[in-house]
Formats: sequence, structure tokens, C-alpha cells
Amino acid sequence: MLCRNDSLVSYESVKYFNAEAYEFKRFRDAVCAFQKQEYTLHISLNIMNIVQNLVFTLGLMITCFIAAYQVTIGQRPVGDFVSLLTYMAQLQAPLNFFGTFYRSIQMAMINSERLLELFKERPTVVDKPGVKELPYCEGEVRFNDVQFAYDPRKPALRGLDFTCAPGTTTALVGESGGGKSTVFRLLFRFYNLGGGSIQIDGHDVVKDVTIDSVRRCIGVVPQDTVLFNETLMYNLKYANPSASDEEVFEACRAASIHEKILNFPDGYNTKVGERGLKLSGGEKQRVAIARTILKDPRIILLDEATAALDTETEEHIQSALVKLSQGRTTLVIAHRLSTITTADQILVLHAGRVAESGTHDELLDMQGRYASMWRKQIRAQEAAEEARRLSDKAERLRNEARGDDSASQSDDERSGGNQSGRASRGEPMSGTEDDTAGPSMQGHP
Ligand code: ADP
Repeated sequence: MLCRNDSLVSYESVKYFNAEAYEFKRFRDAVCAFQKQEYTLHISLNIMNIVQNLVFTLGLMITCFIAAYQVTIGQRPVGDFVSLLTYMAQLQAPLNFFGTFYRSIQMAMINSERLLELFKERPTVVDKPGVKELPYCEGEVRFNDVQFAYDPRKPALRGLDFTCAPGTTTALVGESGGGKSTVFRLLFRFYNLGGGSIQIDGHDVVKDVTIDSVRRCIGVVPQDTVLFNETLMYNLKYANPSASDEEVFEACRAASIHEKILNFPDGYNTKVGERGLKLSGGEKQRVAIARTILKDPRIILLDEATAALDTETEEHIQSALVKLSQGRTTLVIAHRLSTITTADQILVLHAGRVAESGTHDELLDMQGRYASMWRKQIRAQEAAEEARRLSDKAERLRNEARGDDSASQSDDERSGGNQSGRASRGEPMSGTEDDTAGPSMQGHP
């Protein structure tokens, strides 16, 4: 029933591509395959029942014949024959039970097989023996010649070197596939490194400290926040179950979402729907920011946190993000360069390496990749602004033209044209104020 879950979870894609009929067919094929297997199962169960009954009846018949024969030749009393029949009847019930027992054993075997398969999965990212908890986290992050590949044939990071000082903001920019998200995944310990080391406050995150303690000091605001189908309060407290309601309100105020939540009919008890679908993109991102504030980590990873939002919502959220990153080491993946111009350090990643690094001004002076990306974005922004300006102007001219048309039309109507028009339509031609005002007012847009 994987296809049913799949199509229900991705129902938007199904609708976007008018694929209801295709999904219906996929589901029907799956049900047909299931029915075929079930049919085979029922046949085998019935054959088993028939064989079982046949064996039992034959056995009963043979023993009855033997017993009856022994009774007739006087070898046994009639009472023995009756006892035999009683024993056989009592034996039949438990033997019949074996049939259903067989089925439940089969089901249990299938389930245990699945469970054993799960048990066989060994997590590859585990704590090394003897590692300790990360003591208080100051927030210094260092990547030393980090190598990593998802597939050995295609390295994702090829000797990445950089350092983020505590409390500073580092932006990762560059072409898609340059390795930006991989940096976050490795820092959050989703994968083991292929080579080199990552250090937090001088502690090697692989060799020295536990995965749990590393993750505790890192907060992530992803591009697309996924929420549980629970209340807003539940989702917010997920980051820190011991937080009081007042602390949650405070975090929401900092993320500029408190007032909005209070305006919902159920306030903080609003159910957010599956994966949070009842909230807008901007609201979800603000909830994610509030959650990260509640977690209170020293290191923050912002993975294109505002990329999926419109420019205006992005501007609002930027201020919440600035509040969130105050005094914390922040790593930002940004596609809109205008949002990271104030970062303490910008790293341009290219093919798994730092191609350029520096502040916004330094990188512009370098006239390299960053400067060219910046120029392209500025040009695109200017083109967008020009297009908007022209479309505004066109709209204004269209409105003016419509206004002129209607004005000249009403002038005509007020003069002879109006009267002749009316005359031709056989309408009354009285010269009262009401009559002249009527058509000219209707003529305005
Ligand atoms: P960016 O975030 O800069 O767009 P990524 O870090 O996501 O780049 O990806 C770097 C490279 O690793 C890309 O070539 C991408 O195809 C590959 N990659 C990313 N995620 C996976 C994955 N889960 N499995 C295999 N390859 C991956």
C-alpha cells in the first residue's frame, strides 16, 4: 500500500500534473496484485483444511472399523468403542485449531522477518568508543581539509578549509551542487567524514565528542519546515519540552509571530495540519525560528531559510533571523546575495572547495566569482524592477485611456449624440438633470 501513502502525501503533485487517473491505475494494479496473492493464500489454506479433514476422517473411519471389528468378535466391550468415539471427538477440536494456528504462525514469521531486517540495519554514524559530552559550547567551528563523497566516484567536498569565530556570521554561497548543504549535514553529523576533521571549540566532532551533545548545541532553520500534525504549542515546545508558556510567547515575540498566533481562532492551540499545511510558508518559517530560539543553541544553521518566500515576507523574516543570530555563531546558505552583505565572512564554494572568501566588499574588489554573481543578481534585480515599473506605467496609461474614452463618451452623450442615440433607441429625451446625469455616471469606469 506504499503507492496509496505516496500519492496521498504528495497529493499536490498529483493535482498539479492531472495524474489522478494514473494514480488510480497504480493503486488498482497494486490492489489486483494483492488480491492475487490473497487468492493463492486462501487456496493453500483451503487445500490444507481439506487435507486435514480428509486425514482425520480417514483416521476416524479406520479406527472405527478396527474397534467395531474387535467389538463384534468379542475382543473388547462396547464401552471401549464409545470411549474411542468420545476421545476422537475431543481430539478433533485441537487438531482443527492447527489450521488457524498455521496462519497466525505464518503472519508472525513475516512480521518477525521484517523486524529482523530492521535489526540488521547498522547505523554507520555512531559514537566512537570513549568519546565525551561536549562541554559548554562557545561556538567556534573549524573545517580542516574536509573530504567527503556520497558516491566514491563523485566527491562532494574536496578539502574544505574554513573557520567561523564564535558569535560571527558566515555565509556559504555558490552554484548549486557546490557542497553547501553537505557542509551542514556533516556538521550536524548525518554522515561520517571521508577525510580531514571538523572541530567545535577545538573538539573533533567525530573523535572526541558524542553526536548527541554536538546536535544539542546546533539549531537548524531549514528551507522547508515540517511540523507535526499537532497544536502550535506542541510544535513549539518540541524544541524544549521544559520551556514555560511565557518562554514560548517570548520566543514567538522575537520571531514576530506571537500577535499572529493570538489572532488565530484557537490561538496557540491551533492544529497545524499534516506537515503544517494549514500555515503559510512565512508562518512556518517563523515557527521554526521561534523553536530554534527556544532550543537556544550556540551555533545556528540557516539553510536557505527564506528562499521559498516572497521578497516582502523575506524582509520581515530577515529581522527575526537577525535577532536569532545575535551573539551566536551562524552559518547561512543564501541564494539571494543581498541578504548576506553584512556577514562577517562569505565563502564561495565551488566543486567542493572554498573558491573565494572574505567580506562582501573584499569579494567585490577581487572581481572573481562572487563579483560576477553579484553583478548578475543586480542586473536581474534591475531588470525585474524595470519590468515592474513599465507594467505599472502601462497599467496607468490603460486606466487613463479608459478614463478618456468614458469621458468623451459621456460628452457625446451629453451633447446631440446622446439625444440622437436616445431618439434612435426610442428613449425619452427630457432635458432634466437626472436624465443627463444617468448615462454620464454609468460611463465612468
Ligand atoms: P548545494 O547545497 O551547494 O547545492 P549539495 O551539498 O546539496 O550542494 O550537493 C553537493 C553534491 O553532492 C552534488 O553534486 C549533489 O549531486 C551531491 N549530493 C547531494 N546530496 C546527495 C545525496 N543524498 N546522495 C548522493 N549525492 C548527493
